[in-house]
Amino acid sequence: MKNRLLTLRRIQTSARFIIAFGLTIPLFSQEPFQHLREDMVKYQIEDRGVTSKSVLDAMRKVPRHEFVPGKYLADAHNDHPVPIGYGQTISQPYIVALMTELADVQKGEKVLEIGTGSGYQAAILSEITDSVYTIEIITELTNEAKERLRRLGYNKIVVKNADGYYGWKEYAPFDAIIVTAAAEHIPPPLIEQLKEGGKMIIPVGHPFHVQNLMMVEKQAGKIRSKNILPVRFVPLVRGK
Ligand code: SAH
Repeated sequence: MKNRLLTLRRIQTSARFIIAFGLTIPLFSQEPFQHLREDMVKYQIEDRGVTSKSVLDAMRKVPRHEFVPGKYLADAHNDHPVPIGYGQTISQPYIVALMTELADVQKGEKVLEIGTGSGYQAAILSEITDSVYTIEIITELTNEAKERLRRLGYNKIVVKNADGYYGWKEYAPFDAIIVTAAAEHIPPPLIEQLKEGGKMIIPVGHPFHVQNLMMVEKQAGKIRSKNILPVRFVPLVRGK
């Protein structure tokens, strides 16, 4: 609540500032959400131990407010997931940053995301590498994310409407795979499509319970997995 009031107050202050200094503002300020993102990164992400410069830079740059529905604008930078319609959510900023850091994506590498949702995680990845593939099962969300990403200039992200359980064979293998919906088991096709030495970050567990965020690594043909932390994601649904 306190957080929300603070966010609202900041937006109001920015709005007043723009009105008062309407003509001069384009000379020295980018956009009113920049400082909300700076605070989000500092207090929610860096303070919890995320250190990767490319991840922190991406989280500062991608306009998170563009990825939440208008009625949740005041919640866009808060420390929790936000509804995006169709019973789905955009993940909490810290979880997006943590998963991106764990995936350890380098410039030029190929990454697959399962669960496009708003397109936010894909946009973060695309600030780090040019090869981002993302799959969403809900047709409406797929179309909205495609339109949003195009409008914001994320033209290189390739989005498809399908069941991500099967991965995307055509573009495999991937250096990293990020799954942003909770699976009851690690989908074998995703293990298959992970490059040797690659990393998959995936929440595993029962839907609507607490799940384990897991890091799965493929080395010398073998799979090693470890638990990172308890999380709560919407379920990976099947059947497209
Ligand atoms: N990464 C998103 C948030 C994901 S919420 C963002 O940045 O906004 C999880 C998403 O996974 C939802 O949009 C849901 O529809 C999608 N999803 C669930 N099961 C799926 C499946 N089998 N294949 C692809 N997408 C799936």
